[in-house]
Amino acid sequence: MKQSSSSGLPNRKMITGIYIFVLVYTIVQLLWWGVLLHQQSKQIAKNEQIALTHKIQELTHPAEFMQEMQRLHKEQQMRTFKYIGEGVIFLVLILAGAAIVYRAVWKQMKLGQQQQNFMMAVTHELKSPIAVAKLNLETLRRHKLDEEKQRKLLDATIRETNRLDQLCNNILLASQFEHRKYQPFLEHLDFSRLLRDATEELQCRTVSHNIEADIMPGVELQGDKFMITLMLNNLVENAVKYAPKGSTIRVKLFRSGETLKLAVSDEGEGIAPEERGKIFLKFYRIGNENTRKSKGSGLGLYLTRKIVEQHGGTIAVKDNSPKGTCFEITWNDYSVQSV
Ligand code: ADP
Repeated sequence: MKQSSSSGLPNRKMITGIYIFVLVYTIVQLLWWGVLLHQQSKQIAKNEQIALTHKIQELTHPAEFMQEMQRLHKEQQMRTFKYIGEGVIFLVLILAGAAIVYRAVWKQMKLGQQQQNFMMAVTHELKSPIAVAKLNLETLRRHKLDEEKQRKLLDATIRETNRLDQLCNNILLASQFEHRKYQPFLEHLDFSRLLRDATEELQCRTVSHNIEADIMPGVELQGDKFMITLMLNNLVENAVKYAPKGSTIRVKLFRSGETLKLAVSDEGEGIAPEERGKIFLKFYRIGNENTRKSKGSGLGLYLTRKIVEQHGGTIAVKDNSPKGTCFEITWNDYSVQSV
């Protein structure tokens, strides 16, 4: 398939062309209708004036003739106002309808494009762990490897299946959030401990980056353990994906005045200000699917924001100092309790 058709561009151009043509045609028709009505009105006035001059002998007084002429003139003016009024109402209705249709079609096309990107990304994301796991298992079956090599292959296979598992979880959860079917399992949590454990687990799984935790102790809250772990995993795994190898990722839980904050920062390239509003949208990934090197589905931050909102917080993205990205989650009316 050609590049342009796979991104749906000619289709979009064609639809926009047809849309503009129909809109312009309708407006021109409306104007033409106005011109015809105006001409018709002039003709009616002319005919009525001719009829009046024929009836002039019947009118006893010239003032009566003048009165009649004025009445005809007024009627013609009224007709003109009526046509202009109707024309303006039609024009407003046509433009409003056109705007609504344009918005709906544009939204649909954007969603279609994002879904197409998602399908391309997910197909790749599904295929690559399956391929790696299959290859590792076949290697184990065919060759008699020493214990160390066997362990390495098995570890790699488990990592790949974990990735697959996480992708499936993300897809299922996104669908449940979409249909408002996900019911969080809220329980009393030692939030500080949960974050510490999850960060340690992430550090064990990550050899390429150094993950530093600076977690304020003794923070408790009502939350869904699985969701909070997923939220942290998504943020840290993004930092691993988008920050250079060997750099440090910081997970920090702290109080700032009356608010509780959780910040995940990295030393990557950062996110351009114009992209910051879009990265939380479903399926949205920065850049082009055909040239992008990083793996992903565009669901991670969408889910993260949903989870944060579900737990009464807000999430924002900022520049990290001196470089990189910082995702900051804030809980406003939080009262810290000691464990
Ligand atoms: P993906 O599966 O593509 O990582 P996400 O929803 O997690 O999807 O992220 C959306 C986009 O935001 C990513 O494609 C990436 O371009 C950008 N992004 C997310 N986290 C970071 C980060 N820590 N540094 C730079 N860019 C990021």
